[in-house]
Amino acid sequence: MLTHPGKHRGMKDTPTVSARTRVSVLLPLPLAGAYDYAVPASMALRTGEFVSVPLNQREVMGVVWDAPEATEAKPVPDRRLRPVASVLPAPPMTASLRRFIDWVAAYTLSPPGAVLRMAMSVPGALEPPAPQAGWTLAPPGNSRPRITPERQRVLDVLRMGEVHAGALLAQAAGVSLGVLRGMAENGLLRPALLPHPSRFARPDPAHPGPALGPVQAAAGAALRERVAAHRFGVTLLTGVTGSGKTEVYLDAVAECLAAGRQALVLLPEIALSAQWLERFEKRFGVAPALWHSEITARTRRDTWRAVAEGAAPVVVGARSALFLPFPELGLIVVDEEHETAFKQEEGVVYHARDMAVVRARLAQAACVLVSATPSLESLTNVEAGRYQALDLPERHGGATLPAVEVIDLRRTPPERGRFLAPPLVEAVTATIERGEQAMLFLNRRGYAPLTLCRHCGHRMRCPNCTAWLVEHRAKRLLQCHHCGHAEPPPAECPECGTANSLTAVGPGVERVMEEATALWPDARRLVMASDTLPGPAAAAEAARAIQDREVDLIIGTQIVAKGWHFPHLTLVGVVDADLGLAGGDLRAAERTVQLLHQVAGRAGRAEAPGRVLLQSFSPEHPVMQALISGDLAGFMQEEAAMRRPGHWPPFGRLAALIVSAEDEREADRTARDLGLAAPGGEGVQVLGPAPAPLALLRGRHRRRLLLKTRRDIAVQPILREWLARVPVPSHVRVQVDVDPVGFL
Ligand code: ADP
Ligand code: ZN
Repeated sequence: MLTHPGKHRGMKDTPTVSARTRVSVLLPLPLAGAYDYAVPASMALRTGEFVSVPLNQREVMGVVWDAPEATEAKPVPDRRLRPVASVLPAPPMTASLRRFIDWVAAYTLSPPGAVLRMAMSVPGALEPPAPQAGWTLAPPGNSRPRITPERQRVLDVLRMGEVHAGALLAQAAGVSLGVLRGMAENGLLRPALLPHPSRFARPDPAHPGPALGPVQAAAGAALRERVAAHRFGVTLLTGVTGSGKTEVYLDAVAECLAAGRQALVLLPEIALSAQWLERFEKRFGVAPALWHSEITARTRRDTWRAVAEGAAPVVVGARSALFLPFPELGLIVVDEEHETAFKQEEGVVYHARDMAVVRARLAQAACVLVSATPSLESLTNVEAGRYQALDLPERHGGATLPAVEVIDLRRTPPERGRFLAPPLVEAVTATIERGEQAMLFLNRRGYAPLTLCRHCGHRMRCPNCTAWLVEHRAKRLLQCHHCGHAEPPPAECPECGTANSLTAVGPGVERVMEEATALWPDARRLVMASDTLPGPAAAAEAARAIQDREVDLIIGTQIVAKGWHFPHLTLVGVVDADLGLAGGDLRAAERTVQLLHQVAGRAGRAEAPGRVLLQSFSPEHPVMQALISGDLAGFMQEEAAMRRPGHWPPFGRLAALIVSAEDEREADRTARDLGLAAPGGEGVQVLGPAPAPLALLRGRHRRRLLLKTRRDIAVQPILREWLARVPVPSHVRVQVDVDPVGFL
């Protein structure tokens, strides 16, 4: 248990001046709130300043937080407060970021310190980088030192007021370092600190971009206007795949740059964004700053600092980039806003698309949500007048949308033991023969999703999770995709002991690859899955190879659905279009339409028209019908009509409680107690407790409860009150998930 210097209580609001004798400091730790500290007389402190303070036996960094509202409780007396140790030399955290942290904490029911931790993820950046010394011209003195030709060359290179690094100066003047030292001794040069070189070049908003078509130009102009307004507003930018949405929102980025403000672009999978980065460079002449989990510690530090100092004008990042300390945020773009990858499921559970809107509001910035397959949430916000809408109805350059057909697997099934039906096989063959590229999509890694014993029916399952083990044949392993458990396939069934009785059931991409190898032995094939393309460099290289026509056939998981522009790809085959529909998740149909439409959108993006074949056992399903007709708007209206009466999101609110414990009875007991204490009343309903579909995950037993309210009823006060009424034993965890996206 932590002892602390005095928990925050009852302070009057104080102005942001040094005259304060005490301040509250929020620490990046999952504690209940800010703590009070004494301000030494010698110290001037503003709200938002990064400080170092004592906590128990150590010193920790934190932020001078705003004084809370006065409360009844007595404050810790001044004499018992410990003093702030030091102020860190970093730009103070802006009020808008502080309000954002408070907001996210309150909305997600997380401790504010846990949210602050995301905004202080690079403690090293709070110290400025060590300055480097160089040489500058000394002001003219009384002595008249001798000017040799060598010295003259140095004087020719150095202009008054400039500071040059010694080695570069010596090289430019063609002299040795000794000459520079001699000149310093003679009063011609003096040492000076080099300005900190920014590694982030300023993108040039005037750099010529592509000439926009008339519809694109109109959308671009509308976005520019909204950025120039310096006011909060959300725009949903929709348009068919390949219509040039990216070019249009880059126009908004240009406007933001021209106004001297910073822009943030969130991408769902930044590691797969090589093509996007290329386009940005083409548009602005330089690369943007990047923010995601795979950048080096050094880059993280420099980037964080450059953002705080306003020296990084554009950041493109993953969801955590929302917590970067932009002082001058003018625009946030959320590309592929429908993507579930924007939901963070661990730690502070938040949806980056929704929080981007909040961050923009608090910073008085424009926000643009972009998608060819917008979420029902965003569409509903447009309908309600909360968001504005812009649409690009046609593909750029006269390219047509691909024709989508369904292959009815009941009528034309694949051969026994195969997964590609004859019409799909023929289409791939014809495409490759024409010298075009084909893609087979199956959202399943590995060789087979299930391994069972032919003799006794035993199924190989994970010892830690409610999940079958997935065979990865190339690695000779059975793997759990939830906890990472892996074991070699046993020679005999662990249940009945029969030798060589284990058999693979169902396909993964590896198995489709095996079939493709047999069918098209001469085609150049490439598998795109997260385990075959580890990291951004591998993904970028794969994209390059496809663009340069070094590949005939691509076989991939959902990675291939991600915004790629492959001009020579004309056929997309979906191996199992029904896959995402099982499971009964609230958004299963919506998500399947979005994913398959995005995959389909990879085909026919240039001159040659595209064709899409969906293998399905239920061609009459509304999802397949929507994909065939291309009427996604109509499909979304039907989705809305199904969700509205039951107050399902976005027409009502949901929050999940996930109770977990290593001991099954403990999980059950807490879940039952929560169920007995469940809130009720008009417009409030609790479903569960029930075992989670993943009833066992990483060795913990899981139970779920779901709170459902009408849209006009906020879930947070209800959750707070509910959780306060139920004691939770120390080894039971109750995770709160407001606006859940996954229901496992
Ligand atoms: P979306 O984001 O809507 O899928 P993109 O912005 O990726 O569409 O555009 C598709 C392709 O068309 C890209 O290669 C892009 O560079 C190109 N493109 C779009 N608009 C233009 C334009 N006005 N001039 C030149 N190329 C364009
Ligand atoms: Zn597992």
